[in-house]
Amino acid sequence: MTLLQVSDLSVEFNTAEGVVRAVKGVDFSVERGRTLGIVGESGSGKSVTSLAVMGLHRGATVTGSAKLDGTELIGADEESLRRLRGRRMAMVFQDALTSLHPYFTVGDQIAEAYREHHGGSRKAAWARAAEVLGDVGIPEPARRAGEYPHQFSGGMRQRAMIALALSCEPDLIIADEPTTALDVTVQAQVLELLMKLQQERGLGIVMITHDLGVIARVADEVLVMYGGSAAEQAPADSLFATPRHPYTRGLLDSLPRLDAEDGNALRSIPGSPPSLLSPPDGCAFHPRCPVYAAERNPLCTGERPRLRQVADAHRNACVLDEVTR
Ligand code: SF4
Repeated sequence: MTLLQVSDLSVEFNTAEGVVRAVKGVDFSVERGRTLGIVGESGSGKSVTSLAVMGLHRGATVTGSAKLDGTELIGADEESLRRLRGRRMAMVFQDALTSLHPYFTVGDQIAEAYREHHGGSRKAAWARAAEVLGDVGIPEPARRAGEYPHQFSGGMRQRAMIALALSCEPDLIIADEPTTALDVTVQAQVLELLMKLQQERGLGIVMITHDLGVIARVADEVLVMYGGSAAEQAPADSLFATPRHPYTRGLLDSLPRLDAEDGNALRSIPGSPPSLLSPPDGCAFHPRCPVYAAERNPLCTGERPRLRQVADAHRNACVLDEVTR
């Protein structure tokens, strides 16, 4: 069942240098109990997309539609969005140390968020804070709830952020690089925790990351973004087995491989992400695209390619891809 439906979402910022088109006409949906992974380099628009959905896009012009269980979020007034945030949808950020307030105990912050949406006594909210800290695997949760964020390790703080997000029992969690600051062991534990909570509660999750390894581990569906647009969208199995967009193939080729021959250097995608103030004509990837470099096909510099279905449940925004379904 569709929980979040995003259609033709665009986000622009007016700056002294001109209009920055950070997101251009993106579509995706998230089902209950499923995870959509959004992947791309810095500046690809993946985080701006999620902030726009949450109504946290300060100073931006947002158009299009984002419906949570049929309720339109784009253009909704701040009071309605504030009620929805926390109670129906919540966000987990990368840097828990800056997202949690250093002057308040972890328990106070969770209890306060809970009371904001559910009311009730301080005592009941505090009990709820200890309960969700226990749910995310914090040992001795009633005692640890009385500690400050700096007294938690990095992995524990990230668990506390997840507890904060879960405290009001949302249907949708948007996790923006939730494990980037963690070492690989703790990263795996936090991802496992999110997947376990998803199974128990039927959460829809949007996982935003630059890390295809994280996507491979958790995502059911994948949206690859480049230069503010969707480049490719497919079920995770299909995307990893048969990546079709040259950018996706470049991302996959740049992953370290255990079976690589000795001395094989890691491959990277040459060039830099496009300027969002003055993007290249046509396909934004063409200055870095190996296919364009070989063929110089004028279609690549014509109109901006949009996603189109090229195989079962697999959509690609490359004009040279041939439909195989
Ligand atoms: Fe490369 Fe052209 Fe496809 Fe863009 S449209 S990804 S430039 S082949």
